[in-house]
Formats: sequence, structure tokens, C-alpha cells
Amino acid sequence: MAGLYGSIEAGGTKFVCAVGDDQFKMIKHLQFPTTSVEETIANCITFFEPFRDQLLGIGIGSFGPIDSDQESPTYGYITNTPKEGWANVDFLSEFTKALSVPVFFTTDVNSSAYGELLARPRVNSLVYYTVGTGIGAGAIQGGQLIGGLGHTEAGHTYVRPHSSDLKNGFTGVCPFHQGCLEGMASGPSLEARTGAKGELLPIDSPVWDIQAFYIAQAALQASMLYRPELIVFGGGVMAQNHMLERVRHHFEVLLNGYLPVPNLKKYIVTPAVTNNGSATLGNFALAKKVSKKSEAL
Ligand code: ADP
Ligand code: ZN
Repeated sequence: MAGLYGSIEAGGTKFVCAVGDDQFKMIKHLQFPTTSVEETIANCITFFEPFRDQLLGIGIGSFGPIDSDQESPTYGYITNTPKEGWANVDFLSEFTKALSVPVFFTTDVNSSAYGELLARPRVNSLVYYTVGTGIGAGAIQGGQLIGGLGHTEAGHTYVRPHSSDLKNGFTGVCPFHQGCLEGMASGPSLEARTGAKGELLPIDSPVWDIQAFYIAQAALQASMLYRPELIVFGGGVMAQNHMLERVRHHFEVLLNGYLPVPNLKKYIVTPAVTNNGSATLGNFALAKKVSKKSEAL
């Protein structure tokens, strides 16, 4: 039988493990909540154990920040996360010890970006943002993930405050920065402004336009920095299907005709892979890459 590829989508709330065939078709998957480091890693290993003889590689897309520099002494660690019990944890070596299989270790958003690339055969560059509990992005240029010393952290760039936030003195929810994108536009920022979770807010709440103003700034930054062919927005908050149009509107105003960009309906989009499957698909492909030769992207 042909070899199999593994995927671990390591989120702060839940983990999704999957095994796919050589066509990246999922043959088994399991989702479980993120608990202690030991228990969560043990659950992953138990999932992959029956496949260990067929696994050619595993792609791991993790919440972060992570150390993805293979030359670093702390390669494979989750580093400066505020998530209790998970800061400065050696995440990777337990897998490699238990399963002795090549692993590609990157961020969850890099995995999603890679999956979205695969789902769009004629595209060579894109940026994938998730707008959920946090905000992060993975960028692809020339078919490759970008990042030098480490992975990029596009959720923690500063944004111009909305007039309503200035008036109310709202400076965001990021414990590290006042006024960064994640602090101003992640799911928890909606709750901080309104007292209600995003999924419970009415469609006519003024907070949606405030949030779209910030997400449009992310699209503007991505456009200016990378000139990608398109920008994909995923994550829980973007499940609000009115958001995309609001973001396009604010983007158009902010861009102010400065650069030519494609039709915004094709340029600012939601994921092509359905059922939140971008990261899993990306991980299968990254697992295949690392199964041939171990190299950083
Ligand atoms: P995570 O980022 O933890 O992996 P999600 O992408 O689902 O998970 O993001 C969760 C955040 O998104 C929470 O702050 C939640 O309140 C918010 N959220 C989830 N679903 C929706 C929704 N339909 N509309 C608005 N906000 C949502
Ligand atoms: Zn921040």
C-alpha cells in the first residue's frame, strides 16, 4: 500500500489529527480539546500509532509563537504563548521520539496558507489570515512559505485606531501591545467592546464595521508588503458572512486607488477548502515535502 501522510492542527482550544493517502484524501481524523501538554501529546501519538509503519511524514501546524528554526536549540518549541502550561514547551521531540517519522513543524496559519495554495492551481502567492481567538497570517511567495529568522507575526502589527475606539479609549486586548491588529480585531476584542461573544451579536451591531475597518487594514498591509495574488480570511469571526463585503468596502476606501488590485470579489476572499480543512490539506503536502528531504521552507 502507498504511504500515508499525517496532519496535526494544534490549536489553543482544540487539536485535529488526521491521516491522508498519497492523494491527500483524508482517511481518518480525530478532534479533541487541548488539555495539558502531556495528555494532548499522548492523544496525538495514540491516534497515529496504528499507522506508524505507513506514515511517510507528519505536518504540524501549531498555535504560537513557535520556534521553527531548525538550527535553533529550541527548535520545535512553543515559545512565548500566554496559554497556561504551554509556554516554552518542547512540543516536537515527543512526537519524533515516539513515532520516528519526519515532521514539518510550522504555524497553523502557514499550514492553512499552504493548503489554500494547493486548492488554487494557478496561484503562486497569497496571504492567509485567521481572525479568531487571535489573529495570525501565513504568506506565500513563489509557491513557498516566507519567514527568515522565524515565522511571521502579522497579527501584531499596529493599526490606525477607529474613531469610535479613540472616543471610548479602547486600546485592544493584546497583553503585549496596545493597538495591534489582534488586540483590536480578534474575536475577544468584540466581546471586550460589547460584553457578548461575536457569535451572539446582531448583524446590525456597529462593532462589525469597526472590526472590518481593522481587518481591511490587514488586507492593505498584506497588499503593500507582499503584492499577493489574493488574500484569504478564515477563522471563527469570518463565519459572519456579511464581514467579507464590509472588509472589501473599507479596503477600497483605504487603498484610495493607489495600486491596481484584482476585482475585490476575487482578491479578498474566504477559504477555498471547505469545512476548515485548509490546514489539514496544507499539512499533508508539507508532510510530503519533508518525507523526501528534511529542509526548512
Ligand atoms: P480559534 O481561533 O480558537 O482556533 P475560532 O477561529 O473559532 O477558534 O475563533 C474563536 C473566536 O471567534 C472567539 O472569540 C469567538 O467568539 C469568535 N467567533 C466564533 N464564531 C463566530 C461567529 N460566528 N461570529 C463571530 N465571532 C465568532
Ligand atoms: Zn499584539
